Amino acid sequence: MRPIQMVDLKTEYQRLKKEIDTAVIEVIESAAFINGKPVQDFSKALAQYLNVKHVIPCANGTDALQIAMMALGLKQGDEVITPSFTYIATTEVVALLSLKPIFVEVDKQTFNINIDSLRKAITPKTKAIVPVHLYGQSCDMEAIMEVANEHNLFVIEDNAQSIGGDYYFKDGTSKKTGTIGTIGTTSFYPAKNLGAYGDGGAIFTNDDALAQQLMMIANHGQSKRYYHDVVGCNSRLDTLQAAILSIRLQHLDENINARIKVADFYDNAFKDHAVIKTPFRDKNNKHVFHQYTLILNSDKAGLRDELSMYLSENKIPNMIYYPVPGHRQKMFESFDAAAFNLPITDWLTERVISLPMHPELDEEQLSFITQTTLNYFNRN
Ligand SMILES: *Cc1c(COP(=O)(O)O)cnc(C)c1O
Repeated sequence: MRPIQMVDLKTEYQRLKKEIDTAVIEVIESAAFINGKPVQDFSKALAQYLNVKHVIPCANGTDALQIAMMALGLKQGDEVITPSFTYIATTEVVALLSLKPIFVEVDKQTFNINIDSLRKAITPKTKAIVPVHLYGQSCDMEAIMEVANEHNLFVIEDNAQSIGGDYYFKDGTSKKTGTIGTIGTTSFYPAKNLGAYGDGGAIFTNDDALAQQLMMIANHGQSKRYYHDVVGCNSRLDTLQAAILSIRLQHLDENINARIKVADFYDNAFKDHAVIKTPFRDKNNKHVFHQYTLILNSDKAGLRDELSMYLSENKIPNMIYYPVPGHRQKMFESFDAAAFNLPITDWLTERVISLPMHPELDEEQLSFITQTTLNYFNRN
């Protein structure tokens, strides 16, 4: 059996080696390392894939969120509602910009922002909602947009984990996740579903004026060369990464389908298990399985960490995404974050465990992973 990886970028590279090597050498020979043609080509290709008017490339997914919040003209003390159960980048940029993070609950099944909790968190100071499409599953965007429209709020979709996902509206139409709110953001961190061979990110919007603003902020607030209208930052996707991403984008759908097959295999193996709860798939979206995250539905202390150790001993990588929710991070002490009462978030944080998930997993590896996991429970 091939060694099992949490994410296997080496095997995919071997398959795409010829295409990637050619593209990389072309960039190096052209010496257009910054804002070379591949950057525009990739942005256009991604806009077409997502069916969105504007794609603004930037340096990483955290910058994408920051630039989005800067472009919306949010002011110090404005409240931004986000789930606590997410990667730190989502909430960190809120605090970085002197905005106030308001942590809300997630749904116990979908891991995504809970609509009742969202509604209850709205105050006259609320300016924006940042829903996170966690692990590859879309939030309930129709409900979120309804709340946002009622209260005149911006919606920034953190789509770092769900690029390529589809959200299905009740009227039968569909849109790509990240293209439904005011702005969508993503990350091309190598382990993401559409990853570069280094850092990268992008911002999407259908609003022309906002696109101008986003572009300007990502480029030192520059409106024309050496004329700087607003305080911005320096956030670029480099040409080498764009060239690689153009190739990987062509394989995104086939990679997503391979991920779904892996999820199906896991689902089937763990079906009806007394403790292992497989990821819920909401019918309102196509889950793209950035992560395959189980809930261990038990109150036995230490169970999750013991399973994690057992898997590691058997050379099965596994991860806890994430061991500390936002509202319990030291970073947010000055925001009195621990005062947020989020029992579902805490409950999930103690019980989630993610198994290896990538398109290169074969049946032999998958059988070993599922058998070993089941063995752990049979031993006990
Ligand atoms: C990865 C990730 C980010 C940040 O992306 P970087 O490119 O690492 O800055 C933001 N939000 C979520 C939900 C992520 O998973």
